[in-house]
Amino acid sequence: MEELTARNALRSEREKTLARINDLRAEFEAIVAGSRDMNTDDEHDPEGSTIAFDRAQTHALLNEAEAYLAELDRACARLVDGSYSVCEVCGNEIGSERLTARPAARTCIGCATSNRSA
Ligand SMILES: [Zn+2]
Repeated sequence: MEELTARNALRSEREKTLARINDLRAEFEAIVAGSRDMNTDDEHDPEGSTIAFDRAQTHALLNEAEAYLAELDRACARLVDGSYSVCEVCGNEIGSERLTARPAARTCIGCATSNRSA
């Protein structure tokens, strides 16, 4: 994959992820503020447990998005030091198709597949 293409892909992923983090943070704060106003009992009130679920769900998505952002930052660093597109496990080239689909990928498709089944 061309370095410029990779850099652009990482940049656009980063922008999307940052926007997503902002949305999720706003959503999370709204849920927290809403549950405070209602003063619900999370365990016994059906409405309260829905809020607790939404809050946990949004928090999980937020963590996921932040982890992905960190992955993208590491990918940017690898782009700079020249190890981008080199599989971390076997040292082979990561296919450009895979990098287009997952710009933060650290392993080639072969290693990713064998890790999943192991
Ligand atoms: Zn590999």
